Amino acid sequence: MPSHFTLRMQFGPHEDPKDITRQLDQLVRAAPVDEIMLFCFAEEQNDGHDTLERVKLWLDRSRPYRDALWRAGVQVSLNPWHSMLHCDRGRSLKPGQEWQRMVDPTGREARAVVCPLDPAWQEYYRAVLGLFARERFRVVWIDDDIRYHNHGPLEWGGCFCPLHVAAFNERNGTNASREELVHACLASGAPHPWRAQWFDFWQETICALLDEWRGIIEGGGAKMGLMSSAMESHAAEGRRWAQWWQAFGGGNPPVHRPHFWGYSDAMGSMLIHGIASLDQNRSIQPAELESGPEIENFTYGQWNKSFRQTFAQMAVAHILGSTNLNISLYDFMGNRPDDEPERAAFLTRVRPAMDWLADMFPMTMRSVGAGVPWSEEMGRTMRTPRGSTWFELTCPPRGWAYWLGAAGIAFSARAQQAVNALAGPLAWSFPDEQINEWLAAGLLLDGPAAEILVKRGFGAMIGVEAARQVLQEEVLYSMEHCLDPRFALRVGAQMSVNDRPHTRALLQGALAGGAVMLTDLRDPLQRVVGHGAFIFENRLGGRVAVVPWNASAGATPEMNVHRAAQLRRVVQWLARGGSVGWAEGGAWLVPQFLTDGSAWRAAVWNAGPDEIGTFTVHLPDGMPRLRMGWHCTPAGTREPAAIDGGVIRTVRPVHQWDVVVLVP
Ligand SMILES: [Zn+2]
Repeated sequence: MPSHFTLRMQFGPHEDPKDITRQLDQLVRAAPVDEIMLFCFAEEQNDGHDTLERVKLWLDRSRPYRDALWRAGVQVSLNPWHSMLHCDRGRSLKPGQEWQRMVDPTGREARAVVCPLDPAWQEYYRAVLGLFARERFRVVWIDDDIRYHNHGPLEWGGCFCPLHVAAFNERNGTNASREELVHACLASGAPHPWRAQWFDFWQETICALLDEWRGIIEGGGAKMGLMSSAMESHAAEGRRWAQWWQAFGGGNPPVHRPHFWGYSDAMGSMLIHGIASLDQNRSIQPAELESGPEIENFTYGQWNKSFRQTFAQMAVAHILGSTNLNISLYDFMGNRPDDEPERAAFLTRVRPAMDWLADMFPMTMRSVGAGVPWSEEMGRTMRTPRGSTWFELTCPPRGWAYWLGAAGIAFSARAQQAVNALAGPLAWSFPDEQINEWLAAGLLLDGPAAEILVKRGFGAMIGVEAARQVLQEEVLYSMEHCLDPRFALRVGAQMSVNDRPHTRALLQGALAGGAVMLTDLRDPLQRVVGHGAFIFENRLGGRVAVVPWNASAGATPEMNVHRAAQLRRVVQWLARGGSVGWAEGGAWLVPQFLTDGSAWRAAVWNAGPDEIGTFTVHLPDGMPRLRMGWHCTPAGTREPAAIDGGVIRTVRPVHQWDVVVLVP
């Protein structure tokens, strides 16, 4: 299947439809455009909840260019920007909109963001969707304001309004106040039963609404599209995805627009973030759905996000099996597409590469590497440190992906047979049987995850009899010192653990007999003040490696040649000398491996600013030796690469955001 370019655009009712028709006609002749996703009442053109009269006006004023696009063979979809509304930003409810507004956990009420339980707002929004459904749209998207989190200026979001509190009490036979409910949901220690009940209540009430909306939209012949945000944010709402696929697809494969990359140009670690985030979405998407990730650019233009990084984001989307690309290159003020013809030229230039990638990486392929599993249950199982804010239910779900990816080690968002890696509070999210299964193979743990497993009674399986976190104020650690030649570039090499985000606290345990220290901790005078990383073989026959630091502390791992060597060798040991797939030959060389069980593919990225000429790929177990390779660039070029065993040589240097695709 070729790629499918959908351009996200907005024109206002103040603009001359004839003029827009002419401009769009010119654009779809100049660029390979399959579909235009029209926005209405979005961002700069949002004035709160628009009246039905304004909705009708927008439909009337946009009909000429919508019809012209269909006639030109370009599909048209619609993305109304507000359901509940993203955020206030100075907007407020209009006369006649006497709706319950959203209330946050602290009791603050929004000015314009509404509560989805308000019956009058529900009636209004059904009428809005009814107007849209009568028009000819391929998909009517529900924007990702249909969520509980991120509704500024509220703290975290809502809704904890009187309607919600009363409905919860009625449903559960309780008599709790908002304060009591929030206090219980955020209580530290084992989650209070009200947290799960509150999440279930939220999910079921919103999915019932969506189910009704799908009936209205499908009644007009369109599909209802789901736009979503980061998995950890949805998990802090208790989202169970099966309910959402059912609400949006009604039993048919749904239409999904995941978010997986930043809105602006970012450093190389964004590539790892993008791969890990999209792979998390892929790991739970039903088969045969339409997956069209958003290709973001906000605020608008090439100054904000380069075409080079835009190319990389589009290529990652296809390498991970996406069917569509929902591309933001055009602004929402309705400026003329030909103000900046470079955008159409860019789309034309990269289209052949995207069609080729879409064919090379069908949706049936799945990522292979060290498993960095995650769970939609993570918000429900999260232990809150203080219990003072709903943000504490946001569990970091990609910690190890950043570190492994930066060390050139392939990873997958799905649990793998040979090696898995757990970081931070995610270690609460999986049942005992699952943890035992991973402990019987190879398991990499960071300090917080190891401490949690000790609390959960797995200490004997990971080589730790007792564990706690220490701070630099208590033990003056500043360096990690390499002791074991099997797990270091060189014995005596040192890595800084001096007041960095991932080393603000370090795990210190009473290590069991049989635990082997790979590094120790030193103070500024080279005195040994504790243990560093260690390995252990447990009675299940599994191998475990523990690092003392926090792998979930951020999305920018502090990689260096010693840390990379340590992690590569630790992962090889966990895999019992086998390989999960990795690459070496430059900083920020990031590999991806995928298979459908018989066919295999690899993609190796240069995510760093320094060019790379030659690099080495170590294939994952089971992948046949490489035979062909192509160096793909944002300029649209695709040149064969020479393959000599695992050594790959390209004709031209591999620059940042170039990718080399390799096949057996
Ligand atoms: Zn409410």
